[in-house]
Amino acid sequence: MTEYALELENLVMHFGPVRAVDGVSLRIPKGSVVALVGESGSGKSTVGRCVVRLLEPTEGTVRLADADITHLTRRQLRPHRRDVSIVFQDPAGSLDPRLSVGDIVGEPLRLMRRWRRRSTESGPSTPPAPSAPETEAEGRARAGVDSVVPARASQRRDVAAAVADALRRVGLRPEVAQRAPHELSGGQRQRVSIARALISSPRLLVADEPTSALDVSVQASVLNLLADLQRDLGFACLFITHDLSAVEYLADEVAVMYLGQLVEQGPRQRIFGVPAHPYTQALLSAAPVPDPSTQRARRPVLLGDDLPSAIDPPPGCRFHTRCPVAIEKCRTVVPESRVIGEGGHRVACHLVGDDGSGPDVRDQADT
Ligand code: SF4
Ligand code: MG
Repeated sequence: MTEYALELENLVMHFGPVRAVDGVSLRIPKGSVVALVGESGSGKSTVGRCVVRLLEPTEGTVRLADADITHLTRRQLRPHRRDVSIVFQDPAGSLDPRLSVGDIVGEPLRLMRRWRRRSTESGPSTPPAPSAPETEAEGRARAGVDSVVPARASQRRDVAAAVADALRRVGLRPEVAQRAPHELSGGQRQRVSIARALISSPRLLVADEPTSALDVSVQASVLNLLADLQRDLGFACLFITHDLSAVEYLADEVAVMYLGQLVEQGPRQRIFGVPAHPYTQALLSAAPVPDPSTQRARRPVLLGDDLPSAIDPPPGCRFHTRCPVAIEKCRTVVPESRVIGEGGHRVACHLVGDDGSGPDVRDQADT
């Protein structure tokens, strides 16, 4: 058994000429939160969609716990569907307006049961997923305790009970199950998405900018909720965001993405305390300083130009067109990713020494 909930090895996702993701390797230890940060257009969401196999990668490997799911067909993916869920940025767009909240939240359970029924009916060619009972009631039913109750009716009741539990868990009253998504506020809708994502007790949750479409006033409460749920339920999380203040609060590890590649990754304390890559330093300089007593105020580093096109990324270091400290070598030679410190802190930059020493572009902005 591996100790990782997710392993990405050299993940590549090209859309025709667009090199959205270009060689990302990342591991998420079981039960921990890894934040994937970077500007919009850097390929973060594409990584997330490969992890839940909404996209089939061009190259590389996606491994969930012990299963290589990189090229599985939809049918082959079914047994793995309960292991990984995704919450999208925009709850309005990801909830079917024709369904009640109860139907939305319970849908994953109903689907999995249908698949399980089909695979038992169609014989041993597709073995049913070994799984723990989804509810206590199901456990009893499987043990034959409730066998006098017709199976379908008892399953319907089980789903309703699981939905009520899931809604309570995200801070909504069970009566919300009868409502339609449009009757809810944005924050409530995102809680519904989270309830749906967690109802199958996944081992990994991909949260793709889960608060950035919400009013600022409710962002903190939804982040708090995610943090509490993660601590209580123990799922691993790939937390995709451009908001570094949210990362500092939630993540165990941070991976910084630029133009389809990781430029720096490591434990949260190291990324915030001793960021080595000029791009990470620039991102941090633009984030609100969480504790003014321990960090001096810095002026944001301006990166100037927009993110270059992923169709024809710059040669050498992809960041060289915007890097305030670039040297000649950066235009032609691709920097290798190297370990520079404890906890697997890695960086890809020519100017960073093996001990992590190097320029801090924030000092230049100060002067
Ligand atoms: Fe800047 Fe060169 Fe380092 Fe790239 S390799 S981040 S261009 S100094
Ligand atoms: Mg995105």
